[in-house]
Amino acid sequence: MKAQPKASHFIGGEYVEDTAGAVIEVLYPATGEVIARLHEATPALIERALAAGAQAQKAWGALRPVERARVLSRAAAIIREQGEELARLETLDTGKPIQETRVADWPSGADALEYFAGLAPTVTGETIPLGGDMVYTLREPLGLCVGIGAWNYPSQIACWKSAPALAMGNAMVFKPSETTPLGALRLAEIFIEAGLPPGLFNVVQGRGAVGAALISDPRVAKVSLTGSVPTGQKVYAKAAEGLRHVTMELGGKSPLIIFDDASLEDAVGAAMLANFYSAGQVCSNGTRVFVQKGIRERFLARLSERAQAIRLGDPMDEATQMGPLVSAAQLEKVMGYVTRATAEGALLVTGGGRGPANGGWFVEPTVFADVTDGMELAREEVFGPVMAVLDFDSEDEVIARANATDFGLAAGVFTRDIARAHRVIGQLEAGTCWINAYNLTPVEAPFGGVKLSGVGRENGHAAIGHYSQIKSVYLGLNPVDAPY
Ligand code: NAD
Repeated sequence: MKAQPKASHFIGGEYVEDTAGAVIEVLYPATGEVIARLHEATPALIERALAAGAQAQKAWGALRPVERARVLSRAAAIIREQGEELARLETLDTGKPIQETRVADWPSGADALEYFAGLAPTVTGETIPLGGDMVYTLREPLGLCVGIGAWNYPSQIACWKSAPALAMGNAMVFKPSETTPLGALRLAEIFIEAGLPPGLFNVVQGRGAVGAALISDPRVAKVSLTGSVPTGQKVYAKAAEGLRHVTMELGGKSPLIIFDDASLEDAVGAAMLANFYSAGQVCSNGTRVFVQKGIRERFLARLSERAQAIRLGDPMDEATQMGPLVSAAQLEKVMGYVTRATAEGALLVTGGGRGPANGGWFVEPTVFADVTDGMELAREEVFGPVMAVLDFDSEDEVIARANATDFGLAAGVFTRDIARAHRVIGQLEAGTCWINAYNLTPVEAPFGGVKLSGVGRENGHAAIGHYSQIKSVYLGLNPVDAPY
């Protein structure tokens, strides 16, 4: 299988190559075979991308918002027309099953383009009366933005960042994860086909050093990162040197709390979605599943039954429900957590092994019970299909334990008692929460974390504020009162 793009980078409206950059091999996670060979961006290409973005932004930012919206809407339509081809490319890049990439990845990106296309022309300022004089405000673009992506939702991330950025009149230089570099290049092509002027969405490939070079440039007004907490800390610190705006979408170890009055079938289904979708490589996953003691046995029995029925295998097969992990490194990391969880005394309920032996980086859907708060499995982000089930007795106890983490991305509660649901959610330290649902992230809802899980929000009206800045204009209508 091959997925070689025309060239490694997309700058100023065209594919660009510079073979002087270090090689990036793109591997298909289901087999380990090389499907594309790219090069990292050299300093000359980084400069070219930043210059193209800075130059193109001026005219774009001056357009009427409806004109920008028209381009974004067209891009969304093209994504939907090419849905099948894009889903296959995403599956090759990430190893995620085609049944997921058809409905989740690019479609969610198209939603973002449609949503921000619709929202941009509605953004207005304020008029503030001052008894004669007045102030009015304008929401202006920030300028040139840098987007840096993770490998778990590469195309969705590229769309979630570029859609509000472009809608509000900014330009973007996007660096995908070196593990999944393909989707963003297709997005750049689609934008040009949709009528986006060249230079407004540029893609440069590379590892961390390329990202670091981008965010150090004085022309850059904002950095939006999706990645791990340690990377977020580095990127935030670097951005602070130039007092750049930031959005940080980072990791989590989110609690999913299941009270004994919950619908068991729904709670089991949600816990599986919260741990096994995309082979567990989802930042908002509810990886600490707190189950009230009274339903522990029934919950584990049904969970084990349903987890064992998950179809693991060829991601291109429509019947496959779970694919491999994204890389050999991720496989090694996840299997390390599995081995140490057993050694620490957690009870392996199901899974724990490698999947079909065809060379891919598969891990079986895995459930550990009897996990306690101090165990590594309850504290660290695994980013694989490994669920930790913890027992609890009371509401107050579980709230305190759920909050006893430095992360704060997401949280969920399952109960039929609606007053309790709101009471508990109200006390959980998390930016994105669900009641009797999990991991649904419609573009209409702001998404992001608190504590070490992030700064700022993607999606929803909130994202408008993160890709624009307010100019206040004092309008003097009276004689100037100078005491000189
Ligand atoms: P990562 O932190 O290793 O890399 C993220 C991106 O940052 C990559 O493109 C990488 O090349 C780049 N990078 C690395 N060092 C850099 C530096 N010094 N300067 C600039 N850029 C640098 O993360 P990953 O392994 O690609 O993704 C997994 C992580 O992402 C998990 O922790 C997961 O929770 C998180 N994530 C969060 C969200 C969210 O929305 N909150 C979504 C998806 C993934």
